[in-house]
This record gives sequence, C-alpha cells and structure tokens, in this order.
Amino acid sequence: MPTPDPDYLILGTGMAALSLGAQLATAGQRVRLLEAHEYPGGYAHSFPMGGYRLCAQVHYVFGCHPGGTIADLLERVGLSDEVRFRRLDPDGYDHVVVSGERYRIPNGFDTFRDRLLVRHPEHATPLRAYFRLLTDVRDELDRLPDQPRAWDYALAPLRFPNVLRWRDATLGEVYDRLRMPQRLRAVLAGQSGDYLLPPSRVSFLLHTALVAGYDRGAWYPEQHYGHLVDRLVDTIRAHPGCSVELEREVDHISIAGGRVIGVRTRDGVVHTAATYVSNIDPARTVALAGPEHFPSTYTRRVTYPYSCGSFTLYLGVKGIDLRDYGFGSWNVWHYPHDDLDRAYAAQLDQGDLSDPWLFLATPSLHSDAPGLTPPGHQLLEVATACDHAHFARKKAEGSRAYTQEKVRVRERILDVLEARYVPGLRRHLALRVVGSATTNARYCWAPEGNAYGAALTPAARARVPFETPIPNLYLVNATAGWPSVCGAVRSGTRLYDKLAGGRTG
Ligand SMILES: Cc1cc2nc3c(=O)[nH]c(=O)nc-3n(C[C@H](O)[C@H](O)[C@H](O)COP(=O)(O)OP(=O)(O)OC[C@H]3O[C@@H](n4cnc5c(N)ncnc54)[C@H](O)[C@@H]3O)c2cc1C
Repeated sequence: MPTPDPDYLILGTGMAALSLGAQLATAGQRVRLLEAHEYPGGYAHSFPMGGYRLCAQVHYVFGCHPGGTIADLLERVGLSDEVRFRRLDPDGYDHVVVSGERYRIPNGFDTFRDRLLVRHPEHATPLRAYFRLLTDVRDELDRLPDQPRAWDYALAPLRFPNVLRWRDATLGEVYDRLRMPQRLRAVLAGQSGDYLLPPSRVSFLLHTALVAGYDRGAWYPEQHYGHLVDRLVDTIRAHPGCSVELEREVDHISIAGGRVIGVRTRDGVVHTAATYVSNIDPARTVALAGPEHFPSTYTRRVTYPYSCGSFTLYLGVKGIDLRDYGFGSWNVWHYPHDDLDRAYAAQLDQGDLSDPWLFLATPSLHSDAPGLTPPGHQLLEVATACDHAHFARKKAEGSRAYTQEKVRVRERILDVLEARYVPGLRRHLALRVVGSATTNARYCWAPEGNAYGAALTPAARARVPFETPIPNLYLVNATAGWPSVCGAVRSGTRLYDKLAGGRTG
C-alpha cells in the first residue's frame, strides 16, 4: 500500500527542523523530514571517526535552564527526563586569553563587572557604563513581544528606548561611545567566535543577546550532542505516519498555481504534502523553487551576505590529562593580541591564518559519559574563522593543494597550542581531523560554508520571516529565525506555535 502523504514535509534536519518536527509529531501531525546527509542534525550532527564520535560544530549551548528554550522543547516532546545537561563552571565558563593573560567569564553580569573592576580599576567609568547598558538592553530584549501589536509600536520609545537607540549600532560603535580601552574591548568581545564577527562589524543587539544567553548558563548534554539529536529523531519516528529520511537531498521544489505541489529528491522520488517547511537556507530554497515564482521584493529580501566559514580541528588526546594544562569545565578563547578587528581582517580578508585566534573546547571534560572517545582518551576541539573563498580556490586547484593548505594551517595551530598551552601535544595525538569552510558546505550544505546563516551585522536584526509569498511554504533556520542551537530550537518552537495553534511565546 502506498504511504499516505504526510501533513508536513520538512526539508533538512537542522536543530530548527528537529524542534519543529518533534513538536508536530507529538501533537499528532504526520511529518516527514528529508535530509541530504547520512547523519541528522545539521551543524549539530555527530559522526564516527577512528573510535571517536565527533559533533560537527556545536560546543556549548544556552537555554537549558528551567523555563529556557531548550528545556521547554524537551518538556513539550516528553524528553526532559532523558536528555539532561551539565552546566559549565559558573565561576568561569569561558576563559578569554589575550596576549597570554587569562580572564574568566562567570555567570552574572554584575560578578563579571566586579571582577574586571578589581583588575582594571582605572577603567571603572567605561566598564560600569558598558554593563549598565548591556543589562538594560538585555532586559528590553527579553520584553520584546514575538508578535508585536499596534500599541507595542506606539509604546516602543518608552518601553524599549535602548533597543531603539542602539538597533543600528555595532559593538565597536558602543565601545567608541564609552571610550572603552583596547584590552577591555578584546575581553568583552572574547566570545566573538560565537557570532564570527569583530567588534567593528557585529550588531550590538546581537552581541548582547548572545552574551546574555550564555550569562544565564552555559551547558553541555550529559550524553553528548549525538544523544540529543538521536532522541529528537527517535521521537519523530515513534509517532505513526512520521519519518526522518536520510541521504535524501532535495534538488527541486515544484510550484504550480502559486503553491508548492511537491519536492523532488536526487533519487528522482517526488514527495508531496499539504504544507512544506524548508530548513534549507532561504536564498537556496528560492533557487530550488525557481526565483520566477517569487516577487522581486522577496528575492531581494533573501539576498544577504553570509557569515564567514570556520576552520575546525578535532584532536584526540591520549597519555595526558588536559586538566593539567588549563582546560576543564570551560572553553578557552585564545587571542594573540587585543585588536580583534585586525585579527579577523588578517584571517578573512587576507586568508592569513599564521597567528589565528582560537576557540578551544574540551567536550570530554564537560561530561564523562562514554561514547565520545576511546577509554582514557580526551578530546580537544579547535575552531577559528576562515574565508570560504580561500579554501574553495585551493580545492579548485586540486585535492593535493587543498590538503596541503589544510595541513599547513593545522600545523600552525598545533605550533601555537604547543607553545602556549600543551607542550609536546603532538606526541599525544591519537586523532587529528580537519574541517574547513568547504567541509561545512559539503557536509552541512551551508552556502559558502557559512557558520551562522546571514552575517550578524546590524542589518541582520530584521530576520527573514517564516512565511513566504507561497502560502504553503514556510522557512525555519538560522537565517529565518536565529542562529545557535538555542536560537534554532526557538525558531522551530515559534513556527510550531504559529502553524499548530500551540502556545505562543
Ligand atoms: C564552527 C561552528 C561552531 C558553532 N558552535 C556552536 C555552539 O557551540 N553552540 C551553539 O549553540 N551553536 C553553535 N553553532 C551554530 C549552530 O550550530 C547553528 O546555528 C544551528 O545548529 C543551525 O541550525 P539550523 O536549523 O539553522 O540548520 P543547519 O544546522 O544549517 O542544518 C540544515 C540542514 O539542512 C540540510 N539540507 C541542506 N540542503 C538540503 C537539501 N537540498 N536537501 C535536504 N537537506 C538539506 C543540511 O544537510 C542540514 O542538515 C556553531 C556553528 C559553527 C559553524
């Protein structure tokens, strides 16, 4: 008997898609998710390699506290008892190391401010002003309604004065206004890799949303990211009429009479449903359907610069304990000097990764649950910003040129790690796997290998809406919604509320 059409076809299995799909399935809707890759989860997918199970990109998440976005999703789909999180050290969940000096970022803006005041009393005025503004903007962002009504706009100057005032500002402009000294500019933007932009380019509102998210708690899944993704997939599959199909790349979205009438996967199968939701990048979704089906105002709306790509190094470590080298229940952000704008310009504009900033995460120190490494081994993951075009050019020259470039950068990063953090690290490496921006493009189908969807500059504060001009086609992902696992999950929940008349947030 042919399988009946699902109510919803969801294209992709990123965190926004899994959040939406699990909630629809739990509510009794028939959903089918079509995923191009052999593993579900998008950037949050895990893959086996040499006895390890590596999560492609995600290192730590926010929104797992009671009432938080991720906790809320797990409760909605009945997974709160199964998927639990461990909190990274509240006294210093991120350590920012600038020119060799370590600053620990604790939970609590006031605690962080007071810590910096003790260390830099001569800069009390800009520090106090920065944290006051950060707190005010955070509180206003928390109060912003998801679906503003007429009176929200009328009252906005009274209720959201700081959001209105700073909405087009970069973090760098705020620093200038407050006369923030250079060292503190670097420390306060020490989590810059979470949005992959330097202070002169990142939206101040997005910077605030990000640091405020982690300020409420930075978390890691007790049984690692693979478990979170697997349980969401299992939840969908457990419901009648629901499925998650892997290695099903969508290569065409058919539109007729102003509606989607089916999507075709690369194997030639045409899938139909009443409603279609694309977790694929909005611009690419339009390209798959054919731009001629959309008004030009809309095709312009989905034209945006992408965030940059990432260079990632997964290191399996044996015979030493990384806790003896300054690692633990926290991440380390390494900056070779305190001019982050210069560091990003070198890496992105000149393709110069000779002295890169580095994000260092140690997932096996965040949870000791088995499944991540062979017994007795540890994992050190390293990431930094890189230019997709640079690696795409190397790839075009041939696999030898591409591999040589990856090895060159890998060895340079290992030099830095041995000089600054773990002397003799190379002797203890059981695994070294490298991914570049072109890897993101290939395995996560991310246009230009982008890490966070549309670049998070002030222009990106207006997100691409979930609705499209095609009434039975919706979008949900890091660009039509918000990046980060928490942002993507929230986008899935908000779209679910809209589609299924569930709770409104
Ligand atoms: C280096 C790096 C580090 C990061 N670190 C963190 C972190 O520590 N914490 C955090 O919260 N966030 C982190 N993020 C961001 C976070 O992972 C993403 O913002 C989030 O997971 C995006 O979810 P999404 O739903 O938008 O979909 P994506 O993850 O982009 O997934 C989209 C899915 O659609 C599929 N797809 C695309 N095209 C097709 C097609 N034609 N047919 C079928 N399927 C298709 C893809 O294969 C993919 O599975 C990081 C990202 C990067 C790159």
